[in-house]
Amino acid sequence: MDSAQEEKLIILQNQVEKLQSQKDTLLKELNTLEEQSERTNQLYRKYFPLIIDSVAKGDNLFSKVCKDLSTALKKGESQGKIEYLFQQLKSAILKEDITPAVFGRKKKGLFASLIKGGSDSFVDEYKQSYHEVVNTLRSTLDQKYAGKLDNITKRINAASDTNDISEIRERVFSLVFVYISDTNQDRGKVNAFIREIVGKILDIESKLATTYQQTDSMFQSNQGFESVLSSELIELKQATDVASSIDVLKIKVAERLAYIETTLDKKQADDRFIREAVEENKNAFKSGFVKLQEELEEATKYSEELEKKLNLDQLTGAFNRRAYDKRVEEEMARFLRYGTCFSMLLIDADKFKLINDNYGHAIGDRCLKEIINRTIPLLRKTDMLARYGGEEFLVIMPETDAKGAKTAAEKIRHTIENIEFIYKKDKVTVTVSIGVSQSREGDKSHHQIFERADMAVYQAKEQGRNRVVVN
Ligand code: GH3
Ligand code: MG
Ligand code: MG
Repeated sequence: MDSAQEEKLIILQNQVEKLQSQKDTLLKELNTLEEQSERTNQLYRKYFPLIIDSVAKGDNLFSKVCKDLSTALKKGESQGKIEYLFQQLKSAILKEDITPAVFGRKKKGLFASLIKGGSDSFVDEYKQSYHEVVNTLRSTLDQKYAGKLDNITKRINAASDTNDISEIRERVFSLVFVYISDTNQDRGKVNAFIREIVGKILDIESKLATTYQQTDSMFQSNQGFESVLSSELIELKQATDVASSIDVLKIKVAERLAYIETTLDKKQADDRFIREAVEENKNAFKSGFVKLQEELEEATKYSEELEKKLNLDQLTGAFNRRAYDKRVEEEMARFLRYGTCFSMLLIDADKFKLINDNYGHAIGDRCLKEIINRTIPLLRKTDMLARYGGEEFLVIMPETDAKGAKTAAEKIRHTIENIEFIYKKDKVTVTVSIGVSQSREGDKSHHQIFERADMAVYQAKEQGRNRVVVN
């Protein structure tokens, strides 16, 4: 794998990690939403029976259905049954007018009587709202209403639950009705004022409904339930836009879920894409690796050939000085370490200058090649013959003492002196002088062994050439 591929792999790994954590975050969000939904479900099952119980006191059809619905909710009946009961509830509501009465009729607003013992903060908010209504009335109505308004204020202060508050609203309404019948003021102005007060009360009512809806945000888990409830609430509280906020909630949740689903799909597709990309890369790496191996093998082969070439003498094809140097180091190291002796032959062609002079350089070259070709078959496979330079050759003979080396040298000398070259009807012969030396105790370097062989060659020359001298 080269560094570019490694880099690419690291980038891909980082991307995978990033997408993984994004996916985890989304799954967490989804979990939160599911938990919310579950909470909502629990809340509506807990509170709705309370609300329904409050209105289920009457003996009309509406109350009967409310009772049934309450029982069903408490029992945890199926969503289907609850939806059916809501349908019943809807038709009961349509038959009986239970919407908040404003003028003339003194029926309680549905929501006012729905709640029994709401939370303190909720009742407090409710009370605060009615204080504001009473204050508006105080600043507008004649002084003669002051006593009644004070009374209402006292009741508001004392109110502890939503039943008390329902009573307060009734008192406010009755005061307003008294004012309407008593006053001689311009009807248009009175009507405007009444609309204002009633509007405020309706605001309080809708706030109650909205608070319930917000506190419990109970409707998202079941769409059928939601839509039924939405239409019920619209009909029950004409001015209250509860349905729209439920829809908004629904839409938001749906949008969020859809978004998460889409995003998860996308993430899956992305993950798949990344997996495929990684797979593809892996395959690319694999085939690249095979190719690399082939190239490496080729390179090794080439390098070996090159090494061989570097170690071979171009003219004779024998090993060269470089190869000799390397090999003699190894033999010397072995000798120094294990004491395994080796011998060395230094072969020097006799009067070779004359051969060149008499027959020409080409014949000289042929002679050199022939010396090599004739010598090699006389050696062991473990021996090494190298052209040391010019007309000088070296043979390394591992695990061979001077005696054995001398025998081999004699064979070589004898073989070469018998070679006959024909040059223009002339017989050309060549002889060699061979110096033999063996690794000895105390030798520190192969140069010492060579020196002795060189000396032996010198002696051989001195003694008349074409001979072997051991040193
Ligand atoms: P000696 O018996 O004392 O060794 O005499 P010699 O002539 O062999 O020794 P010297 O060292 O004086 O000369 C070596 C000659 O070998 C000189 C050169 O012409 C010849 N020679 C060296 N290398 C080559 C080569 O590659 N090809 C040819 N044809 N001749 C070479
Ligand atoms: Mg020489
Ligand atoms: Mg010579």
